Amino acid sequence: MKVPFITKEQVEEIVKTYPTPFHIYDEKGIRENARALNKAFSWNKGYKEYFAVKATPNPTILKILHEEGCGTDCSSMAELILSERSGILGDDIMFSSNDTPAEEFIKCAELGGTINLDDITHVDFVCKALNGKMPRKMSCRFNPGGVFTLGKSGEGFQVMDTPGDSKYGMTEDQIIEAIKKLKSLGVEEIGIHSFLASNTVTNEYYPTLAGILFELAVRIQQKAGVKLSFINLSGGVGIPYTPDKEPNDIAVIGEGVHKKFDEILVPAGMGDVSIYTELGRFMLAPYGHLVTKAIHEKHIYKEYIGVDACAANLMRPAMYGAYHHITVLGKEDAPLDHVYDVTGSLCENNDKFAIDRELPKIDIGDFLVIHDAGAHGHSMGYNYNGRLWSAELLLREDDSVIQIRRPETIEDYFATLDGYWDI
Ligand SMILES: *Cc1c(COP(=O)(O)O)cnc(C)c1O
Repeated sequence: MKVPFITKEQVEEIVKTYPTPFHIYDEKGIRENARALNKAFSWNKGYKEYFAVKATPNPTILKILHEEGCGTDCSSMAELILSERSGILGDDIMFSSNDTPAEEFIKCAELGGTINLDDITHVDFVCKALNGKMPRKMSCRFNPGGVFTLGKSGEGFQVMDTPGDSKYGMTEDQIIEAIKKLKSLGVEEIGIHSFLASNTVTNEYYPTLAGILFELAVRIQQKAGVKLSFINLSGGVGIPYTPDKEPNDIAVIGEGVHKKFDEILVPAGMGDVSIYTELGRFMLAPYGHLVTKAIHEKHIYKEYIGVDACAANLMRPAMYGAYHHITVLGKEDAPLDHVYDVTGSLCENNDKFAIDRELPKIDIGDFLVIHDAGAHGHSMGYNYNGRLWSAELLLREDDSVIQIRRPETIEDYFATLDGYWDI
């Protein structure tokens, strides 16, 4: 059962100032979750979460997480500058990018961030870009190749991904070479990083990944003669988008990683290695709703409800066929005795927030909460069909609401146009 963090009465009040559609985030939920994460890894002295900025690139959100002890994980110039302007600098920046332009490495170095290299050729590339003055802290991204699976076959895989087909990271031989080279170039603190599966809804993913990286760290110590300072488990801990799934238990995940740490790293003399994470979805997705209003209903071969949001506000259903739970506000307890496709206005038939979804009877003017839109939601917005970006609001801990990004205007839409045209 998924319960919205706002009520119909609250939304009726909010729309007097901020019309639908809008994204709204729950400050209390964000803080409590960040605290639970930090607690789960408190056994590790150097532990730090670097929030994946791409999930929710809003300075107010970054600052809330920073107050809870999190840094930023950036991957572009704009994300680095977002971190800078949010006052999150130095050791609090992780730069896990790929196919990176030289100026972005330079910017990260200026900010004092940790550069995480995606490829062995980037060692020389960065060295040249920085005129030989390497950052104090750097890491290398590992790709083990092959297929990564978790869970029992026959019962259906819980997790399957194919690192062998993914563009990211280095092979083991390359990572050992790269680390030797970083050391010889004077990098003081060196780490490793890997991201093997996305949106995992199992407590096994991080411990399994940790086991792989911890064993690699031992081999790196033997073969490269380098003792790592940190190991970055990256993102990938997911959330249950469908109401039938059990959420991950971050305390169990933290303990699972702790066990691997004690089994593998401690006996190898690496008990002081810091654990880092770069979670995005887990930190924000459940704490964001897309709130939209039913503006049309249509009956042809199926029943349709047309809402005032569209895939430009939340792309995941159109792009991945992703399920996002929907609650009709004020009808939380009503029977689910209607079957609807809930659609947006794009001239694309995949612009549907729900297909054949059992919902209560929806009336024009009803407010719908689209759940789990807090990460990879607003940030994946776009302007197709001339649709504009919606506002982002924050529900504060005292239940007040503030706007943390205004909606885009028609003037914004025209602002980048140059050339041979006139009004
Ligand atoms: C996207 C991304 C993350 C965050 O992933 P989530 O699935 O949102 O946790 C972390 N690190 C890197 C390098 C990424 O590309």
